Amino acid sequence: MIRLLVFVLALAASSASPAMAEGEVNVYSARHYDTDDALLRRFTEETGIKVNIIEGKSDTLLARIGQEGDLSPADVFITVDAGRLRQAEENGIFQPTRSKQLEAQIPASLRHPDGLWFGLTKRARVLVVSKDRLPELTTLNYEDLASPEWKGRVLIRSSSNIYNQSLVASIIEAAGPEKAEAWCRGIVGNLARAPQGGDRDQIRGVAAGEGDVAVVNHYYLARMIEGNEADCEAASKVRVVFPNQSDRGTHVNISGAGVVKSAPNRENAVRFIEFLAGNEAQAKFASGNQEYPVVEGLE
Ligand code: FE
Repeated sequence: MIRLLVFVLALAASSASPAMAEGEVNVYSARHYDTDDALLRRFTEETGIKVNIIEGKSDTLLARIGQEGDLSPADVFITVDAGRLRQAEENGIFQPTRSKQLEAQIPASLRHPDGLWFGLTKRARVLVVSKDRLPELTTLNYEDLASPEWKGRVLIRSSSNIYNQSLVASIIEAAGPEKAEAWCRGIVGNLARAPQGGDRDQIRGVAAGEGDVAVVNHYYLARMIEGNEADCEAASKVRVVFPNQSDRGTHVNISGAGVVKSAPNRENAVRFIEFLAGNEAQAKFASGNQEYPVVEGLE
């Protein structure tokens, strides 16, 4: 919020059309990570292009770009989850971008075919199980969690969350809407408790014995391992199982960025996204934020 205010005040205080100033790029981002801030500084060091960033919730930023219309200062919109990128696409806020660099760096399956958006990181929606109570368990499918043997043992955040909506979308794609609905009902019937909190809270729930398995994005566990003592301790009591290794594989989502339709600094917007897809930034997303790079062959 403070950042947003600073940006608005800066816009108000400086001379005419500051958002159009050359050598700037205005980024609206729904990612809020220290790693991202460090990357912005690196981009400016390297290119001399100043980055103005507004952070906020994805829906809020999208609504804002919509309200600002053709006068929006936004050059780049960054958000997490393919479901949200799709929503932004449907709202018509992106313009198509062609970039040899982006096309070379990012696999075609992780970017829009017309260049409306580009995946920047990957995140796996994994299962986290109790080491104590399930010492032998190494294979498990999403489908299993709906079966009677998991009654009262499953922890998952609310279905209002996009991560779960996209997971359900992947099950609809794999099994069809009827089986997906039956799966959802099975999960609800097997919940250890009413959904509460975010992904970290589900991991804490497994560690505390409230349930035996949690459905979470992988990087939350990695960050708990690096986090405070209580989280580190909780993380030590659980183990990751990558589901569906014998069939379609684990559900992997992305975070990504696109050039806004009315971007006043279009060229710099593309350069900025190219920088984020470059090897240096990709390595930082992995080492700093515990996400998977989209660029193949990077650690
Ligand atoms: Fe997240």
